[in-house]
Amino acid sequence: RCAVVLFTSDLRLHDHPPLRAALAAADEVVPLFVRDPAVDGAGFAAPNRRAFLADCLESLDAALRERGGRLVVREGDPAAEVRAVAREAGADEVHLAAGYSAFAQHREERLRDALAADGRRLHVHDAVVTAVPPGWVTPQNSTHFAVFTPYFRRWQQESLRDPLAAPRTVRVPGSLRSALIAARGSIGSVSPELAAGGEAEGRRLLAGWLRRGVDDYGERHDDLPGDATSRISPHLHFGTLSPVEVVRRSLAKGGPGAEAFVRQLCWRDFHQQVLAARPAVATADYRTRQDRWRTGAAADADAEAWRQGRTGYPVVDAAMRQLSAQGWMHNRGRLLAASFLAKTLYLDWRVGARHFLDLLVDGDIAENQLNWQWVAGTGTDSRPNRVLNPLLQAKRYDPDGDYVRRWVPELAGVAGAAVHEPWRLPAKERADSGYPDPIVDLSEGLARFRQGRGLD
Ligand code: FAD
Repeated sequence: RCAVVLFTSDLRLHDHPPLRAALAAADEVVPLFVRDPAVDGAGFAAPNRRAFLADCLESLDAALRERGGRLVVREGDPAAEVRAVAREAGADEVHLAAGYSAFAQHREERLRDALAADGRRLHVHDAVVTAVPPGWVTPQNSTHFAVFTPYFRRWQQESLRDPLAAPRTVRVPGSLRSALIAARGSIGSVSPELAAGGEAEGRRLLAGWLRRGVDDYGERHDDLPGDATSRISPHLHFGTLSPVEVVRRSLAKGGPGAEAFVRQLCWRDFHQQVLAARPAVATADYRTRQDRWRTGAAADADAEAWRQGRTGYPVVDAAMRQLSAQGWMHNRGRLLAASFLAKTLYLDWRVGARHFLDLLVDGDIAENQLNWQWVAGTGTDSRPNRVLNPLLQAKRYDPDGDYVRRWVPELAGVAGAAVHEPWRLPAKERADSGYPDPIVDLSEGLARFRQGRGLD
């Protein structure tokens, strides 16, 4: 007997329920990845994520080869490709991890229909790409939690399975054709300091984090120059790490740092359950406000200055430049850069979210769009009109200015916290640095936002 496992956002062998179920049901398994041109067509195949994905597929193939198998790669419409592979291999069942975006749900439906037409069955497995899947915990009278804290309380009470070990052997039918995996080096416009992908790398990162980093997480997660977060987000996005395993191992480690870390992991599931219940919020406001976002030439110029990290607010610019250089940004940077765009510049959050998705290696529809909406005040934040002041944020989270000096070389020679206020430098020093003047006055920005939202 033969079974197909379609890998999507779960590019690993450890703790993989679909693979485990396929191996239990069949003697031979086809581990399949289908590169879907529709993902590129939808503008979602950003070079940084394609490069990281290339590492993940290579690593998955290598791990399967160590176990006597290999990865089969195809390109095309997933429903048609899976159907063709199942026929070629004589497989009577296909296993897949449940996904929660509109795209994933549509793919699953089409796959089920295509397989049913041939009398084959699709088995969909929960708790593969999230720790607690959407729908497991719901409030009375609603499809999803709209507020994080009560969700977290219920989420914590769920008992998660013991993580599954990686299989020792995987027998794959020999005759199947496989497309080549695009090499990372062949992908253009990749951020110069992009992290490496793949399951082995993800596990190495997690093991080091649990050994050395997590204990200080509570105190240090907001420390911009300290860079003291786990950096596992791309591994969770591509599924080279299992969220169930990350939560279970963090809880086993214990202590206040691990508890704060697990709470953060819960935010990820929280957004997935919002998106699963309301797929339209990928583009539509979760809550409608009175917003009259700025548009026109001046608004476009402001958006471009923001993208380039030339707003004249050093901490905002440092964060934006970290994004270009690494395809990743510290969470505190994401918060203050997003608040600057959506509130201080009063530009539509979708403009900023698009740019983040173009660059973030962990760029994810649920996490990116709903975090953006949270910051913009159209989402689940219960204080939708608060505005982060970039100067206060800088002084609090980068008190000596090291983060700014690292990412804004024009200001590298300015010592201490003075780097956050370059407009106070002597005129000649300012002019020589080539660093721009602020594109907006903070109090004017605040007034414009309040007026646009109908607060004044
Ligand atoms: P750690 O601090 O080590 O946290 C561990 C894990 O918890 C993260 O990997 C992530 O999976 C989860 N987590 C932490 N904070 C959040 C959060 N606010 N929301 C959801 N999950 C969280 N995260 C993404 O994975 N993809 C995105 O596209 C994304 N876009 C964002 C856009 C904005 C405007 C903001 C404010 C946040 C965004 N985040 C996104 C959330 C968060 O910034 C990143 O998950 C985090 O910075 C990743 O770094 P880390 O793995 O070192 O995090």
